[in-house]
Amino acid sequence: MPSFADLGLSQPLLEALHHLGYDSPTPIQEQAIPELLQGHDVIGQAQTGTGKTAAFGLPLLDYIDTDLDEVQALVLTPTRELCIQVTQALRAYGQRRGIEVVAVFGGAPIRNQVAQLKQGAQVVVGTVGRVKDLMNRHELVLSDARYVVLDEADEMLDLGFFEDVEWILSRAPSGRQTALFSATMPPEIKLLAEKRMFDPITIKVRAAQLTIDTVDQSYIEVSDREKPDALARVLKAENPEQAIIFARTKIGVDRLARRLDDLGLRVRALHGDMSQGSRDGVMIAFKGGRERLLVATDVAARGLDISGVTHVVNYDIPNSPDVYVHRIGRTGRVGRSGRAITLITPKQRGDLEAIEKHAKTTIHPWSQEPAAKPPVPVNGDRETRRPRHTKPRKATTDGECVKLIVSGGRAQGIEPADVIEAIVDNSHLEGEDIRNVRVLERFSFVEVPAARAGEVIDKVTGSAVRGTKLRLEVAKR
Ligand code: AMP
Repeated sequence: MPSFADLGLSQPLLEALHHLGYDSPTPIQEQAIPELLQGHDVIGQAQTGTGKTAAFGLPLLDYIDTDLDEVQALVLTPTRELCIQVTQALRAYGQRRGIEVVAVFGGAPIRNQVAQLKQGAQVVVGTVGRVKDLMNRHELVLSDARYVVLDEADEMLDLGFFEDVEWILSRAPSGRQTALFSATMPPEIKLLAEKRMFDPITIKVRAAQLTIDTVDQSYIEVSDREKPDALARVLKAENPEQAIIFARTKIGVDRLARRLDDLGLRVRALHGDMSQGSRDGVMIAFKGGRERLLVATDVAARGLDISGVTHVVNYDIPNSPDVYVHRIGRTGRVGRSGRAITLITPKQRGDLEAIEKHAKTTIHPWSQEPAAKPPVPVNGDRETRRPRHTKPRKATTDGECVKLIVSGGRAQGIEPADVIEAIVDNSHLEGEDIRNVRVLERFSFVEVPAARAGEVIDKVTGSAVRGTKLRLEVAKR
């Protein structure tokens, strides 16, 4: 396996990577970096979590002439969240070369962004609309931009930005180098690549597998009323570097954040009812390490890269084994170990067992041990395991549930949180009404209370998730 040095990156970048704890390149980095350093155009078919940002970002940063104040590279992103994420990554990688990276995105005052551009930006990371706007105002000039990246091109297409992307590319220097990253390759993207790229090399990597093998998993059984105090006890004992605490509903997030605050713990809340500006603020503070504890819903935390997080706490047990794996599989990534602690009420033992069974894992009782202790091997320590029940309880609580089949699955980039979000946004159901979400390759399953199934089918059918129109029907046995 080659090292980052073997790929031909410069010393300041190698130092930054070492400082960030990146030991070796991921497959997309191994394949894309040498091609980009040689000046080739590259199409990378890769999803978030594969290390794609560094794959295009490191050659981009090596290309920048630090003596030149002009904009030499442009990264286009479909959303402001991704724009912020990419900017932070490039700043971290490029810190030792003193490269000025400026983020420009909609929904924030354009004046401040213009001022930042005027102070000298060597790399601009921007959302499509705002970049076009700044170019129209002649505040962003691309005459020296010889390196252009389209990140998550399929999202840009889904969001209807493609005409603007074409407009921007047609105004960038024709001798530029172009990199295009996309999880999927619809015909429109292939066409754009043919038109706007020069003899591109295509690199495909499989989606990063979520793994929970490196995560030490435990649970605490308490009554509903005792949950906030139990959580405070856990947080004090574990003393996490950074933790994300998942609650099921937006109201639940707010309530819990207030309660923890009353118990003397400084936390920030993140959910979909907050304004975009405050969500950005919380995300930036958390990602920058200035906030230690975050209470969030699954949906709000979806865009957040939480691989640096040491602890995940399921304050509310996840709706399904898939959501569980998704929540905790994002901590302890790339060689690090993480800890996951799930709070359950006595009634939820069956749910926990279902998770253990379907996620093929062992969740042992939490004990108050110092956080510095190395994680217990997932399959070891059988004595500490909770006695198994002979009869698993039913996973549902009150009332009968009906299983629905949803058109759309992993192949369309759909995640469990997307299914939950589509239902919560389009019907009167709350997150806690939705259970056992399972996302398969081309379709998904979800359980909802039988009495509400008709409403869910009517209201959610036709809504779009990641460019896929959903169709719901009752699953046949
Ligand atoms: P991305 O797919 O670009 O969103 O990256 C996913 C996560 O992996 C980010 O948190 C990166 O900081 C991290 N990462 C990327 N490349 C490496 C690497 N070679 N070694 C360790 N972590 C990495």
